[in-house]
Amino acid sequence: MAEQPSPAKPINVVLLGPPGAGKSTIAEALAVEQHLTVIATGQRLRDEVEARSPIGRAVAAYLERGDLVPDSLMDRLLRASMDMLDPECGFLLDGYPRTMPQAVGLVGMLADHGRTLDIVLALAVDDDEVVRRLSGRRICEGAGDPFPVHVDDLASILRCRERQGHLVQRDDDRPEVVRQRLNIYHEQTQPLLEFYADHKLLRWVNARNTPAEVARAALIILKQEETA
Ligand code: AMP
Repeated sequence: MAEQPSPAKPINVVLLGPPGAGKSTIAEALAVEQHLTVIATGQRLRDEVEARSPIGRAVAAYLERGDLVPDSLMDRLLRASMDMLDPECGFLLDGYPRTMPQAVGLVGMLADHGRTLDIVLALAVDDDEVVRRLSGRRICEGAGDPFPVHVDDLASILRCRERQGHLVQRDDDRPEVVRQRLNIYHEQTQPLLEFYADHKLLRWVNARNTPAEVARAALIILKQEETA
């Protein structure tokens, strides 16, 4: 793939939103367009669980229940990811921060790396839509990079079949776990919206639209930020 030209100023972005808002899909689209490095904490943790690493063994039960992994462990994980960032490149945090201590910790962590946060994109989608999306979400595996499929979306199912992939449900997309993840989002993550609004960093994106439309709207906001 041809290398994307770097934008004038590397921007550092946090993507906030409830589970099922489409954070990962939007993150991927923005990363390609804006030459950003995505740090997706949920995927990082799932990879550790899959590899049965010491971290993976420590966090597996939290993920299975839909609970948050303790802040101290997340802090270490994120710091390690930050250390590895290309200084010329901006980042996009997908799934971090999720608690107030993480948001406060992030400020110090960024200062240690000579960075500041430029913008927080908040994906707006209501609970009913989250439950509909996640209960029907499957992951197409075994066909190159895994990608999400919805049971109501015939085109994505056929794409998976054509690649001879198979559909699996994430353990934490089971209905009772989805409810727990949503409760945690409202209790622990939603207060961050006010925190970032107070810091004049928050921009809303309507996430009820298709992923392509949401990505386009988010991109327009980032481009405005880049040239501001
Ligand atoms: P996600 O893929 O972003 O939905 O994350 C999946 C799971 O990983 C969450 O339900 C949590 O158990 C864990 N996780 C991801 N990011 C964090 C975080 N910043 N703090 C605590 N737990 C996290």
